[in-house]
Amino acid sequence: MNFYSLNQQAPNVSFKEAVIKGIAPDRGLYFPETITVLPNDFFNRIEECSNQEIAFLAIQQFVGKDIPEEALKEILADVLDFDFPLVEIEDDVAALELFHGPTLAFKDVGARFMARCLGYFSTKTTKDVTVLVATSGDTGGAVANGFLGVDGVKVVILYPSGKVSDIQEKQLTTLGRNITALEVEGTFDDCQNMVKTAFLDKELVQNMQLTSANSINVARWLPQMFYFLFAYKEMKSKAKDIVFSVPSGNFGNICAGIMAQRLGMPCTHFIASTNVNDVVPRYMDTGTYAPKASIATISNAMDVGDPSNFIRIRHLYKDSFEELSNNLTSYSFTDKETREAMLKLYNDYTYVADPHGAVGYLGLKKYQQTHPDTYGIFLETAHPVKFLDVVEDTIRENIDLPDSIVKVMDKKKKSIKISEYTELKDYLLDK
Ligand SMILES: *Cc1c(COP(=O)(O)O)cnc(C)c1O
Repeated sequence: MNFYSLNQQAPNVSFKEAVIKGIAPDRGLYFPETITVLPNDFFNRIEECSNQEIAFLAIQQFVGKDIPEEALKEILADVLDFDFPLVEIEDDVAALELFHGPTLAFKDVGARFMARCLGYFSTKTTKDVTVLVATSGDTGGAVANGFLGVDGVKVVILYPSGKVSDIQEKQLTTLGRNITALEVEGTFDDCQNMVKTAFLDKELVQNMQLTSANSINVARWLPQMFYFLFAYKEMKSKAKDIVFSVPSGNFGNICAGIMAQRLGMPCTHFIASTNVNDVVPRYMDTGTYAPKASIATISNAMDVGDPSNFIRIRHLYKDSFEELSNNLTSYSFTDKETREAMLKLYNDYTYVADPHGAVGYLGLKKYQQTHPDTYGIFLETAHPVKFLDVVEDTIRENIDLPDSIVKVMDKKKKSIKISEYTELKDYLLDK
C-alpha cells in the first residue's frame, strides 16, 4: 500500500516510509491510495472474531508488505493486551472506555502501535531512530510508555516545567531506559517550537534519524479504527442504527472512525463533540473553516485551534460539504456544561466520567434529541484520575487511584532542565 501527500507535491511512499517520515516533505499529511471494503462476511461474523483478528483485518491492507503477516500479528497481540469495555449507561447510551491501557489514555493504542512498527523497521535498517515529542501532559506519557524498551528507538520528551499535573509528570519522568524527559523552563508552545526548530535544523537532521510521534503519523492514526470495530462487535445485536460521539481535539480519532465505516462497518452517523475550541462546529454551521488560537479548558487534551486531522476528513468526502454534513454533526460545549454532565452522570448513574468523556456524552445526548431511534456510543478517552482535580472538585467525592498510578507516584522523578534550543541540540548531538 502506498500513501500520497494531501499537498500533492511529494512522491508517494510505502507504509514504512510514511511512518518514519511522519509528515511528507511538502508538509502534507499522508493518505492511503486506496481503501478496500472488507467482505460482508466479516461483519456478519464479527462476534466470532477476537480483537486481534479484527485489528489485523482492518489494518493489514494499509501496512501492506512492509510488515509480514506473522510479525504484524505479533505486534497487534502486544499492542492490544488490555480491555476496551463498553459500559451501558442509559437505554441506548453506552460509554466505550478506552482508558484501560498502561498510561490510562486512549492514545496508548496508537502510540504503542507506532512504537512497535518503528522498532520493527529499525531492526531491519540498523539505524537508530530518535523520536522527539513535545507534550502538554497527556500525550507524552502514552508515547513514552509505548516506546519503552523498544530496541533501536530513543525517545526525548519535552514538557513545560510546573505546567503538567503530578501524575502526568511522574508518568513522563520515571521510565528511564530509552526515554529521556527534558523539563523546559517555559510553556507548551516553547516546547513545541523547540521541536519544530530541531526538525528544520540541517546539522541535526544530517546526523540522526529524527522523527515525531504526533497524531498525524499514519501509525498513530489508523489503529484508532479498532475502537469503533470493537464497539460494533458488542453492539451489533441491538439491531439499531449505531451512532458514535467522539470527543475531538485534533480529529484523528473520529477520522479513524470514519475510516472504519469506509471499511464497511455499519454505522449511520458521527458526532464530533468539542469544548469551546469550536473551529469544526463553526465550519459545519457556516461552511467556512477559520482556525484560531486555542482557549484553555478543563478538557485540555482537546484545546486545539486548528485540528490537524480535519483535512483528512474533508478529503474522505472529496471536499463535498453536503456529503460530510450527511454523516457528521459537530457540537461545542462550555466547561460549565461539561461539569454539569459529569455531575449528572455521577448522580444519576454513579458513572465517573472525565471531562473529555463528558463532552462526548453531551454531544451524543444532543444528537439523540432529534434522532431518538439510534443507539449511541460515546468514547471515554481518559481515566478520570488523569484529571483528578477537576473530577473530584465537580463530583465532590474522592476517587481511588488505580494501582498503576500508585506505583508510578512512588518512583523518583528524573529530568534534565533546559531553557533554550541550543541545550536541546547539544543534548541530541551528545555534546
Ligand atoms: C487526544 C485526546 C482527545 C482528542 O483526540 P483527537 O484524536 O486529537 O481528536 C480526547 N480526549 C483525550 C483524553 C485525549 O488525550
